[in-house]
Amino acid sequence: MKLVFLVADGMGDWPLEELGGATPLQAAHTPNMDRLAREGVVGTCATVPEDMAPGSDVANMSLLGFDPAKWHTGRGPIEAAAMGLELAAEDLVYRLNLVTVSEFSHTGRMLDYSAGHIGTDPARILIEDLREHCLPKGFELFPGVQYRHILVQKGAAKSPEAALAVRPPHDITDQPIAPDFELLKQSPALWDFVRRAAERLEGSRNPTKANAVWPWGQGGVLRLPGFFETFGLRGAVVSAVDLVKGLGRAAGMEVIDVDGATGLLDTNYQGKVDAALSFLDRGDFVLVHLEGPDECGHGGLIKDKIEAIARFDARIVGPILEALEGQDVAIMGACDHFTPIAVRTHTKDPVPFFLWGKGVPPGGATAFTEEIAAGTGLHIEQGRKLLPFALERLGLSGGGA
Ligand SMILES: [Zn+2]
Repeated sequence: MKLVFLVADGMGDWPLEELGGATPLQAAHTPNMDRLAREGVVGTCATVPEDMAPGSDVANMSLLGFDPAKWHTGRGPIEAAAMGLELAAEDLVYRLNLVTVSEFSHTGRMLDYSAGHIGTDPARILIEDLREHCLPKGFELFPGVQYRHILVQKGAAKSPEAALAVRPPHDITDQPIAPDFELLKQSPALWDFVRRAAERLEGSRNPTKANAVWPWGQGGVLRLPGFFETFGLRGAVVSAVDLVKGLGRAAGMEVIDVDGATGLLDTNYQGKVDAALSFLDRGDFVLVHLEGPDECGHGGLIKDKIEAIARFDARIVGPILEALEGQDVAIMGACDHFTPIAVRTHTKDPVPFFLWGKGVPPGGATAFTEEIAAGTGLHIEQGRKLLPFALERLGLSGGGA
């Protein structure tokens, strides 16, 4: 028995007046997920531990069967793992955004966490320039994709900086940046870098919208137990986004890059399906992650979110089911967290999931929706126990981390 785990990021939502009280998942045409729900078991699962923020990093770590309360150190370290950076155990790793602020001062506001969705090439030129001219001793800077980069403070995993809770820039659009300035100033070295970087970016030779850097999401280097050592399964992840790749890499899983996997509505669905199916020839478990519904939730785009969910069903779930039906492979589906249109950010609502496969008798669900999942009475209190639950139901090994 093998297992395919299909994860639609941010798919869960709340009832919307605009949809006559339905959620986007209810409103979307999802015949494949509905069939798997009818023929399998459906329930809910709390993917975000108490006292932790509902980020995709935390939630996807849970879905992979690892306890975020134990293993999660920050967003930066996961993305550093995705980039394959070789870091020392005592390093402190920040995610560093190139951002646009109204002005770099205490009266400034965060205008854009992505600096106008800056391209990877112009961003790399800026980051390399900042590295050469602004970086204090003891820091390293690594260019990444678009606005997303990595700042490393050598040997600082246990320093006071490790506790600085600078807010994620995507959570403070249009809000004052003064509270975060106060935090950054607690670290003279970090503040020196941020201040000098803003000065440098103001310079006339920068044609982009980036006028500041924003270090956040820091933590010690990510170490996860091996996925194979933990669950006895050869596993892989297929995703467009760095943090899912980083989790996979840190757990020693195969990380499959798919050309044209964008994280948006126009992603390469067929490429993801093909990659997952071909991995199953040599592996036991593959997680396919689709980012699109989450982006639509952040954008407050009801129609697009319905479309993203319908495409997940038609172009990921459907083809996987068609290819695997009759084989000794089970399918599980879930979202990592809710991204409700009404609030345009993540929430901690327990997520709906389904599990379909030989040996899993139907649990009585009539379709796959948030409401039906919540009504089945099957609830998994700790997200990390969802995967062991599935493996046990399927007669695969249990385990857990
Ligand atoms: Zn999100």
